[in-house]
Amino acid sequence: MRELLSREKMTAAILYGKRDVRIEQIPIPSVGPGEVLVRIKTALTCGTDLKVYRQGFHARMIVPPSVFGHELSGIVEEVGEGVDSFAPGMRVVAANSGPCNQCFYCQRHLENLCENLQFINGAYAEFIKIPERIVRQNLLILPDSVGFQEAALVEPLACVLRAVEMTEIMEGDTVAIIGMGPIGLMFVQILKSMGTRVIALGNRGSQLMMASAMGADHVIDSMRSNAVEQVRKLTSGRRGADVVIEAVGSKETWQQAMGMVRRGGTINLFGGCPSGTHIPLDSTLIHYSEITIKANFHHTPRHIREALDAIHRGKLKAKSLITGEERLSTLGNVLERLLNRNGDLKIAIIP
Ligand SMILES: [Zn+2]
Ligand SMILES: [Zn+2]
Repeated sequence: MRELLSREKMTAAILYGKRDVRIEQIPIPSVGPGEVLVRIKTALTCGTDLKVYRQGFHARMIVPPSVFGHELSGIVEEVGEGVDSFAPGMRVVAANSGPCNQCFYCQRHLENLCENLQFINGAYAEFIKIPERIVRQNLLILPDSVGFQEAALVEPLACVLRAVEMTEIMEGDTVAIIGMGPIGLMFVQILKSMGTRVIALGNRGSQLMMASAMGADHVIDSMRSNAVEQVRKLTSGRRGADVVIEAVGSKETWQQAMGMVRRGGTINLFGGCPSGTHIPLDSTLIHYSEITIKANFHHTPRHIREALDAIHRGKLKAKSLITGEERLSTLGNVLERLLNRNGDLKIAIIP
């Protein structure tokens, strides 16, 4: 029974396949025990959504036809039986997944690798149902001073914070970051706030200018054939960067990363390549130079909390990462525009 809502249908974006997203009227989800219905105030576009839109599916996260989008904030509309931590009217942010807390990985605090990770989609809609498991672990109440748009950055930021922690970056380190999309720019801001020296590599002038504005100490056009050499020149004795973070997800940039790290340094391959990608390794380099290669995927409930806290404390100039605001009805056009790499970072989609 719908007590608060006088209607049964809502507007939502449905992904049908490759570059085929349609705005439709679908039933508002009904909430069961432990579940929460959120009225979405902001959904943010994300590189992952663009990949899914371009290829028409995501092996782990989305099988069309399906509701779509995963970075969201909003207001609690209804709560299911047994929910006592949330009430209608509360301002909230939800992560896009919830771990099982029982499997091998969850017991080792690697909830991001949970064997039974439950994902949600459907941020590009008026409402979304948050399942019990996410309500319990990954639905957070927003401090008054945190706006809906910046709150919706919690999910990608949590991935970034976890990568920074796992890479064991120290104050004073020289960190090269390849890729100045929203994720790369988040790394720039967080790493500068930690007192590291940042070398930013990107292939678009506008994004390199943003990296500078966000505090990057040096910016390098990654398309230049001597980008690796330029990074080496910026470290004494051409030593190379202490840490390299790859935030693109391509064969070329994964290889670039290996060329610019110092002996004993660490590479974090943060950007996911298309499945089936294989990359040759220089075994001499890896072995005799003691290179550590890491990769990070996704987030944990602890990092979701840390991300909201970082936004609350102003560690991230959230507004600088959101370059536009559009209505849900124009989502298809927005995604096409982003595919054409028009210089936008994230767009806030407002139902
Ligand atoms: Zn995302
Ligand atoms: Zn698990």
